[in-house]
Amino acid sequence: MVPVGIARSGQAMPGESASGPLESGQPESGQLEVHHQLLASARMVLEDVEAALARMDTGRYGACELCGKPIAQARLEIVPQARYCVRCHLVREAGR
Ligand SMILES: [Zn+2]
Repeated sequence: MVPVGIARSGQAMPGESASGPLESGQPESGQLEVHHQLLASARMVLEDVEAALARMDTGRYGACELCGKPIAQARLEIVPQARYCVRCHLVREAGR
C-alpha cells in the first residue's frame, strides 16, 4: 500500500518559472485610484497631525476644537491627532 500525500514534495518543473503574461506598460486604473485615495487620506492625517502639534505649542492639545472639552485619553491613544471628542466627531460624521 502506498501512503497518500507524498506526491507533493516541491518538484518544480524546469522551465516553469511562471511570471505571468507580460504587462503592457499601462498602470491599472484601479490601483491608481487606490493610490490617490491613500494619498488624499495621508494628507488629511498629516494636516491633523500638524494641527495637533500646533495645539501642543499653545497648550490646548487634547481639548476638543468644537466644544473645548477634554478628549478621552483612550481616544487620544488610538487617534493622537484627534481634533474633536467622540461626541463632536460623531456629530460631524452624521452631519455630512
Ligand atoms: Zn467636542
